[in-house]
Formats: sequence, structure tokens, C-alpha cells
Amino acid sequence: MGTASAIIKRFTCCLLGSLIWSCSYPLQESKAGEIPRIRVAIFKDLKSFTVSGKGIVLRDVKTYRKLFSTPAEASLGFQAAPGGLRINRHIYPTRLLSISSEGQLKIKGRQFRGKLEIAEDKSDSLLIIDELDLEQYLVGLINLEISSQWEINAVKAQAVVARTYALYQKQRRQEEFYDLEASVLDQVYAGSNPEDQRARYAVRQSRGEVLSYRGRVIPAYFHSNCGGRTEASRYLWSREDYPFLQGTKCGFCTEAPDYFWSYHLPLRELERTLVKKGVRVNGIQSLRVIKRSSSHRVLLMEVTSKLGKTRLRGEKLRQFLGNTRLKSTNFQVKIEAGEVYFRGSGYGHGVGLCQWGAKGMAEKGYDYQSILKHYYPGVEIKKLY
Ligand SMILES: [Zn+2]
Repeated sequence: MGTASAIIKRFTCCLLGSLIWSCSYPLQESKAGEIPRIRVAIFKDLKSFTVSGKGIVLRDVKTYRKLFSTPAEASLGFQAAPGGLRINRHIYPTRLLSISSEGQLKIKGRQFRGKLEIAEDKSDSLLIIDELDLEQYLVGLINLEISSQWEINAVKAQAVVARTYALYQKQRRQEEFYDLEASVLDQVYAGSNPEDQRARYAVRQSRGEVLSYRGRVIPAYFHSNCGGRTEASRYLWSREDYPFLQGTKCGFCTEAPDYFWSYHLPLRELERTLVKKGVRVNGIQSLRVIKRSSSHRVLLMEVTSKLGKTRLRGEKLRQFLGNTRLKSTNFQVKIEAGEVYFRGSGYGHGVGLCQWGAKGMAEKGYDYQSILKHYYPGVEIKKLY
């Protein structure tokens, strides 16, 4: 998702060009096989925290002046303070510093590779960025997005998709302070604790490989399971109509735990939620789907209440009720005895790679290249380093 300025920037760049590729970025082959670095926002809005590690070195990022170093194992307490950052008992007049160490750095029970940067985000709250090799980042990410125990071609497909997505965002947000969120807003990341041999193997075997279309890095969206058919990107983001994200038949994800799901809530609770979000309703009488996408997902609903009829986008409803409750917009809805019942299939927005579908394909013997070409038709797999 990104910050407001990133969204504005992206919007502007889309407005300037009439071609769909006005918002895309050329492939940049790295010099001498160098691995790109990626900047991930690992913690946000922290009031205080502790960093532990061996041989910690702290520098003021602006002046690159060394503030101090700890020769042995040490723990440092950080807190935003008027006029700077409080580290243990001292206040340093800086709002941005970097921390490196001989090994990994530990924060809140998680280990992080690379270099950390600590910045004051809003007043009195701190933001921590982890800057590390893209390949190391991918090894840590695999077990949070899928399981490294899945058939290896599914794991490799995930590695290529996550690498592509990260590089796309890095180019898109090149004027931002960091490249990626560490949550489902981008890709889930929580340091090196979840790394294992199979994740390392899948990343190494696909080293430097990204998805490209006409020489450009693609926005490689992905989701948990599509419920039968993936979604065309334009239905979610009207300015993102890509030839390789038009939606495709899947049929490989039926084993997914949330392939079918149901959710219900009291009608008055739904009404309370809608009112809180600014939808003009009072005494809801009916909910009706009036438009579906080609993959059967709800695009538009009509809500009838005592105030008349109002329209609501399916994605908005999912966002209002919570993405983990209304697992997808591919649902049927009915009101019965004061309750609202949803029955649906698929988990996630449905665009791009279906993770459970990739697992199903790999189990049927498809290699990762075929899996990727199935979910992103027309793309090429390029090795950048
Ligand atoms: Zn699927």
C-alpha cells in the first residue's frame, strides 16, 4: 500500500501516461552479480524497545559520525526523547541512526540480519528499518508466506514472485524512506528466525530470477487461494490493467483450508459497522449483489434501508468487516432472522499467483517456471544476477 505520498506519486505517474506500462519499471541488471539491498519497515509506532547484539556500532546517519560502540554482547534501550533519541540513560541529538553489529541484532525476540536504521516516525514514536540483501530477505519470508515443506517447485515459485514484488516496489518507492511494509500490506517478514534449509535452497536455486513483461519488472501480486479462478487486476485497481493479470482458471487449490468458508454476524452489527464507516443506512432491509467480475467476485452491492438504496463496493465491504472474516469477495449473502450470512470461496484478493494453486500444481509435477507462466500468462523469467 505505502504512504500517502507514494500513492500520490503512483497516481500522478499513471495519469501522465495513457499506456498501461506508464507505471512500470525497466529491468535493471545488477553490476557484477551484486545482490540488491532492500529496506523493510520491520517495526512502526514503537514507544521504546531494546536491541541486543555483539559488537554493536551506532552511527548518526546524517553525519555518519560514530556515536559509540559496544565491544561485547550488549543490550541497548531506545526511546524517543525531546531533542533526540534516548539510548539507555543518555540523550543523543539525532533523529536517525544506524545500528550494525558483528552478527545479527535481536529485537522483541526476533533476529535481524543486515543493518538497522532507527528513525523518529511521528512525535514520540519510532520506526525501525532493516536494510539487507534481497536474497536473505527472501529466505526469511518463505515460511511466513507459505511453508518451505511444500513441494520444492511451489517454494521456488514463491521465491521468484516475492523477489519480483520486492524489486517492483523498490523501484516504485525509490523516493520513499523504505521499500516494503513487513505485513500483508506488502509481504510478511519478521527477521531470520523462520529461515530453514529448504527455504534457503529454493531461494538459491532461483537466485536473481524475476518475472518480466516486455523488459519490465511486473507487479507480481499473489494471494492465498483463489477459490477456482484468479481475478483480473483492473477490478481491484482500475488503473492497473495488465495483460498478464487478466485472471485465469486455477482448479489446483481445492485442498486449501479456506477454499470454502462462511461467516455470519448480527444485522445490527453490520449496520453499526457501515454507519461507522460513513455509509448512509438505517434499518437495513436487504443486501443485493448487483455486479460481479468475470471470476464471480462481488464488485458492487446494493443496500436497501429506510433511508433508501445505497451502493457499496465488494472490496470496501470486505475491508470494513475485516479481511480475515470476509475472506474474499467471492460470496453469496442473505439476511435471515436478524443475521447476515456469507458463504464464499477463496482467501485473499485473488490477483496473480494462487499460493495453494502453486502447491497443487507442484504436487502434480509442474516445475516452477510452468507454475509462474500459468498465473502470469505471457511473462518471461529473467535472471538479473
Ligand atoms: Zn487457486
